[in-house]
Amino acid sequence: MAAGKILLKDITVDGVRKDLLIENGIISRIADAGTVSVSPDMEVTGCSGKVAMPGFINMHTHTPMTLMRGIEEDVEFHEWISRIWKVEAGIDSEFIYWSSKVAFIEMLKSGTTTFNDQYWSFQATMKAAAQMGIRPVTGYDIMDRMDPYEAERQKEQCIERYEKYKGEMAEADGVFALNFHAHYSVSEPMMLWAAEFARKNGLLLHTHISETKKEVEDCKAAHGGLTPVEYLDSLGILGENLIAAHTLWLTPHDIEILAGRKVSCVHNINSNCKLASGLRFLYSEMKEAGINICLGTDGAASSNNLDMLETMKTSALVQKAWRGDPKALPLNELLDMATVNGAKVLGLKTGRIAEGWKADICIVDTDNPYFLSPGSFLANYVYAAHSDCIDSVICNGRYVMKGRQVPGEKEILREASKVLRHLSTLSV
Ligand SMILES: [Zn+2]
Repeated sequence: MAAGKILLKDITVDGVRKDLLIENGIISRIADAGTVSVSPDMEVTGCSGKVAMPGFINMHTHTPMTLMRGIEEDVEFHEWISRIWKVEAGIDSEFIYWSSKVAFIEMLKSGTTTFNDQYWSFQATMKAAAQMGIRPVTGYDIMDRMDPYEAERQKEQCIERYEKYKGEMAEADGVFALNFHAHYSVSEPMMLWAAEFARKNGLLLHTHISETKKEVEDCKAAHGGLTPVEYLDSLGILGENLIAAHTLWLTPHDIEILAGRKVSCVHNINSNCKLASGLRFLYSEMKEAGINICLGTDGAASSNNLDMLETMKTSALVQKAWRGDPKALPLNELLDMATVNGAKVLGLKTGRIAEGWKADICIVDTDNPYFLSPGSFLANYVYAAHSDCIDSVICNGRYVMKGRQVPGEKEILREASKVLRHLSTLSV
């Protein structure tokens, strides 16, 4: 169904009061407030005192882990992941569907309009996303755990599911990406196969690289002293279609390689801090080298929420603190990392409030203490306010949350609590 016309009357765009018209999913006009005439086919919203901001792009998450929030606390990464893998052995696509829906309630309420996901049974997540109007970036998830029989099964299933669901993904205005979990959980022939499949079909590849110090040390021991970046580069897997999550433990040579291959990197500060994986993300060095850097929350089992505003704030605070430099991550760059930088690698014209761009918009209510300040709107938005200042969200030209109400929220929570009961019996 084509999106209709929406007129946001008297909304603030870049500090100026405007009328903003949305047609067929696109911001078609931004004119001085009070100058766009209303027609009967328009849904008109008065937005006096409200600000239009781009919807966030969460560039690395695992939405079906939302119902595993808090499942393992106060342990380090390798202990955490082995526990997660045990629990995951018992979940099914029903769990994935409802857990994704709970994630989307949270994402929409905190202003995320596009998410880049990595999990199996992606079709359940994609279906949930299409029903709730949030834009999915996901696809087949490869993790053979070095088992050649499993590798063959996954290859066949990947080809079949890509053919079966690529049309549905396009209909959801989403992007099909091929995921392979990590170089330590996927065999070399399987990673090479995935890279080739992605190249052949023009797909993005999404993986974890250099998340922990141990991962780097283990990789060097197993592959003649090569770091994960050097190892994947030696296989010819790094390219501009690759989205690398974490990239926390990088050498200067790694940064040179990632920049040369035009890899996009995703910083996931809350997850990194919480699992004590590290905090010295080399933002300045990577930016200097020309790497496209985005932000992600990671899954709720490690970061405990999917709030991009919180992620922005923590990223800036930690970067400034460990470098002892308040200029280390300026606000405008932080906003780009949470919006347009992700759009760039996804090939989507979104992440800006401008004519001709996708209508992915957060309508921010400034009628609260956090914005009553001589500071800039952006400083108040990121450092002072909480995501509940986001009153409404439009994705692809449709309201997906209005007045903080996400359609179907009660039913989703009710159904999700039933599948969660099943998980509780698994995890004791
Ligand atoms: Zn992850």
